[in-house]
Amino acid sequence: MSGGLSPEQIEVRRAFHDLAVRAIRPRARAIDEGKSFDGELFREVGKTGFFSMRYPEPEGAGADVLSYVLAVEELAWGSLSLAASCTMQSLMGSFFLHRHLEGARRTALLPRVFSGEAVAGICMTEPGAGSDLSSMKTRAEQHGDGWKLTGNKTWVTSAPVAEVFTVLARTGAKELSVFLVERGAPGLSVGRAIDKMGVKGSLTSELALDGTPALMLGAAGSGMASLREILAEIRVMTGALAVGVARAALEDAVRYAKERVQFGKPIGEHQAIQLHLAQMRTDLEAARQMVHWAARRSDEKLANADEAAMAKLFASEAALRVCDHAARVLASYGYATDYDVERYLRDVRFTLIGGGTSEILMTNIARGMLT
Ligand SMILES: Cc1cc2nc3c(=O)[nH]c(=O)nc-3n(C[C@H](O)[C@H](O)[C@H](O)COP(=O)(O)OP(=O)(O)OC[C@H]3O[C@@H](n4cnc5c(N)ncnc54)[C@H](O)[C@@H]3O)c2cc1C
Repeated sequence: MSGGLSPEQIEVRRAFHDLAVRAIRPRARAIDEGKSFDGELFREVGKTGFFSMRYPEPEGAGADVLSYVLAVEELAWGSLSLAASCTMQSLMGSFFLHRHLEGARRTALLPRVFSGEAVAGICMTEPGAGSDLSSMKTRAEQHGDGWKLTGNKTWVTSAPVAEVFTVLARTGAKELSVFLVERGAPGLSVGRAIDKMGVKGSLTSELALDGTPALMLGAAGSGMASLREILAEIRVMTGALAVGVARAALEDAVRYAKERVQFGKPIGEHQAIQLHLAQMRTDLEAARQMVHWAARRSDEKLANADEAAMAKLFASEAALRVCDHAARVLASYGYATDYDVERYLRDVRFTLIGGGTSEILMTNIARGMLT
């Protein structure tokens, strides 16, 4: 063990760091400016085994949660846009397929999802149902042996390029179930891409279903319970995304503080700038420790719902502070698109929303103490 990490975990971190340095960082700005999904880079991440690393052997690598978040931090350090698409593929987009898909359909689809050849999305959110998924209106009706879905989804990550969708729909008054819908299915239309403030290279759009044939994944009514199975991991993973982008912001701020001269000395020699950097480093290290702590609890099969919520809450809010401090250190250049800091500041806000807003997390954490 080194710094609490095993040799295998150190190797995972090194491999993803090398990938980020070599292939991701050089393309990060173009991905943002082009508002484009980089399919080639996405499949290159697929070649590392990232999309299946959390699933058991032989289909996956059987990696632990801590190894996974080490990889996620490196991807997010490279580009939060790319990391957002990749984590969607490796967790929410593939979880229900891996758990429930059987026979020829599994054989045909799962290896393509794990290689990144087939992009996978998850459709939970609706125009009128965000934090409150129990109010969703998309309904599933049984037709013979199969099901047909009707409703409107929104904020579907990767929808413009996805081949398969996991869709949550209502099968009863208080019952949600999980379905597989494939692109090209009758009645499925992918709507306009949402023009976002950040993570612009992780494409997001609306999706309409009108009597669309769908395959039920798992038991009828198991939707919310199934979702709760991966909620903690989604939150720990989102915390790692936040740590990755915060680290990139701190590194840029330190570099700038050494180079930029004002009043006859590098600005890093002014105490005001040192205070920013000290606060940023402290936030970053604390956020990473919380994410690793929550990941280890998952690996040790200890209670982790509150811990994952706290890790995600702290890491995303800390990362926002770090990116904001970085923008202050760079001042006008932190406001210019010639530098990456303004992108970090736009991108990082995503980590406060995906996987549960800060307000919802705080409500959950408080409820954990009061019940
Ligand atoms: C970049 C991006 C990608 C996304 N990708 C996907 C995806 O792939 N699939 C998908 O299904 N969804 C996706 N989402 C949607 C995301 O999950 C939702 O945005 C999130 O659940 C919050 O819902 P909302 O935005 O509708 O906010 P709302 O739920 O409307 O919340 C609005 C405000 O009210 C607060 N609030 C709501 N309820 C409470 C309460 N009970 N107590 C206290 N405060 C409350 C919230 O915290 C927030 O401040 C994505 C979102 C973003 C930004």
